[in-house]
Amino acid sequence: MADAPTASPPPSPAQKAMRKLGLVRDIDLALHLPLRYEDETRIVRLADAREGDTAQIEGTVVDSEVTFRPRKQLLVKLDDGSDVCTLRFFSFYPSHQKALAVGARIRARGELRGGFLGWTMMHPSFRVAGGELPNALTPVYPTSAQLPQAYLRKAVLSGLRRADLSETLPPDALRDLPGRETRGWTLRDALQYLHHPTSDVSLAALEDQSHPAWQRLKAEELLAQQLSQLTAKRARDALRAPPLSTRPGGLHERLLAALPFALTGAQRRVGEEIAHDLARAVPMHRLLQGDVGSGKTVVSALAAAIAIDSGWQCALMAPTEILAEQHFAKLVGWLEPLGITVAWLTGSQKTKQKREMLAQVESGAAQLVVGTHAVIQDKVKFKNLALAVIDEQHRFGVAQRLALREKMSEGGQEPHMLMMSATPIPRTLAMSYYADLDVSTIDELPPGRTPIVTKLLSDSRRDELIERIAGQLAQGRQVYWVCPLIEESEALDLSNATATHAELSDSLPGVMVGLLHSRMPVAEKKAVMALFTEGVMGVLVSTTVIEVGVDVPNASLMVIEHAERFGLSQLHQLRGRVGRGAAASACVLLYSTPDGGRLGETARERLRAMADTHDGFEIARRDLEIRGPGEFLGARQSGAPLLRFADLATDTHLLEWARAWAPLMLDRHAGLAQRHTERWLGGKSDYLKA
Ligand code: ADP
Ligand code: MG
Repeated sequence: MADAPTASPPPSPAQKAMRKLGLVRDIDLALHLPLRYEDETRIVRLADAREGDTAQIEGTVVDSEVTFRPRKQLLVKLDDGSDVCTLRFFSFYPSHQKALAVGARIRARGELRGGFLGWTMMHPSFRVAGGELPNALTPVYPTSAQLPQAYLRKAVLSGLRRADLSETLPPDALRDLPGRETRGWTLRDALQYLHHPTSDVSLAALEDQSHPAWQRLKAEELLAQQLSQLTAKRARDALRAPPLSTRPGGLHERLLAALPFALTGAQRRVGEEIAHDLARAVPMHRLLQGDVGSGKTVVSALAAAIAIDSGWQCALMAPTEILAEQHFAKLVGWLEPLGITVAWLTGSQKTKQKREMLAQVESGAAQLVVGTHAVIQDKVKFKNLALAVIDEQHRFGVAQRLALREKMSEGGQEPHMLMMSATPIPRTLAMSYYADLDVSTIDELPPGRTPIVTKLLSDSRRDELIERIAGQLAQGRQVYWVCPLIEESEALDLSNATATHAELSDSLPGVMVGLLHSRMPVAEKKAVMALFTEGVMGVLVSTTVIEVGVDVPNASLMVIEHAERFGLSQLHQLRGRVGRGAAASACVLLYSTPDGGRLGETARERLRAMADTHDGFEIARRDLEIRGPGEFLGARQSGAPLLRFADLATDTHLLEWARAWAPLMLDRHAGLAQRHTERWLGGKSDYLKA
């Protein structure tokens, strides 16, 4: 961290662009690695060249003319003594023409195409010949429009020269590093090499990052991440929370007895894990994951019962109003008969009702508070919050989770946190990103669920599908029809849903077809949802607002339009809306192709994977392979820095190493650990607090 700028002239556009890319410290620059390399170390003789090679050639311009057929272009013939190559430019300036005048000696670089008229290069880069050839490959860095490659190259080079790259791995950790070759590399060597590899290197090993220099770098990155998470966990372990416990004949027991079903084995097991945490004087920080429909809500209700029975309050926050309301209805149904008061907080509430609710929360009259983001607003004051439950936790950002924790500040204590998610996190991801989080998994569905048959269907067979829907409706069943969310265009998104709504209303006379989308006023949404829940409405057309948590057991058919645009886990979530009752259920993945033809191979494979498996974990694993970890972590909201170099699917051996060494390093080499984390994460470790 040598370089806080001293004198301060206003930053240039390039400097601003660097800052935007996070290139602030010397070490940031040193860790900014090339996307690829260009080989300018050699000059290829045209006589030896192969078609399709990207090559550098050098020769004399023997002809230079502007032609207009088939369109305006500059044609330059370069003779290197072994053959002639035509350089072709469709856009050019007079300065190009001047530099490429007959007689000039030029070095040009581009892709060589052969063919009928001899060698050509389209829009090669070129410069005046002469000067020494570099002896390393030329790095090409990820950059932005405001930041010229040449400027960035210079900045990286000087960053690399100035950065402190001294060893931070203790010798014993180094000796244990997986891969004998990897052990031979220091960070300094690895970076030096990856920025400026010699031209004899295997480009394949550099590009697929299997080269030992890459391995060394990834190991360091993973270690930094594990260290900072472990530090956060230890900090949390030093905090205090009220110990909450069950008692014979208490609320927990009474709620269990009153439930209309018996818990599954998995629910019992995770319930015990949670109860065990709650009984400790250290804040719980637990993720409860379980496939859609696995019954997480009741587990959270049982946890709430423990808190309430010990005289404390509990809050449950859900990401959407619809979902929050469903939770509210369910929890009221379970808990009010046992004498518990449940308050309801949401953004759309009438002022008077809201004021009443706030008063109940503040006085402690309400023992359980259910709601949306409204729960964490400043004016909400709890009397004594001891347990905070966050449903669909990945939908919330760090700030929101922190805000909920801060609702209890009594005596320097923190509330216990239970986070729930229906998107199961693959093991490697949990290990890596949630090192500071305990994970409970419900791996069993309640009995009596009917399997859901999943079918792929081309949009060209829409009419058949609508007929089938009519059949289902005639049997008294209900149908969801989901249209995709098109991120760039909410308007388009809506027109898709409204068009489908109109189409279905037309072709299903006598059936109530409803429309639900995120921009509707809340009251309207609720009215639509109520009609569907009560079974009055036959078909509900919606955008993805119903994705999370909605529970209408009589709905037995789910149609997903433009299924090819959804992520696998999202499709799985949507599919989980059906198959909740006794009736046989189906999910139809309707796909369209731009030309009405076949779906591309990858897209097809993805959708087929959906049809083949119902295991949310397996689906999450495939999703991770296809789309990377961002989807699982809600990275956009949370700002969690994802790994830049390491890849969780392939670098598990390095992750295991980092996990094993992080605690040892913190215990035995605290100074090195701190330097290491600082180097890699700098000021970016805020997210770890939540
Ligand atoms: P999710 O884990 O997706 O949040 P829910 O908590 O909404 O699932 O539960 C899905 C449905 O299953 C609800 O209607 C719930 O009441 C019911 N349920 C939960 N546990 C059981 C069980 N052990 N036996 C039968 N039904 C259950
Ligand atoms: Mg749920």
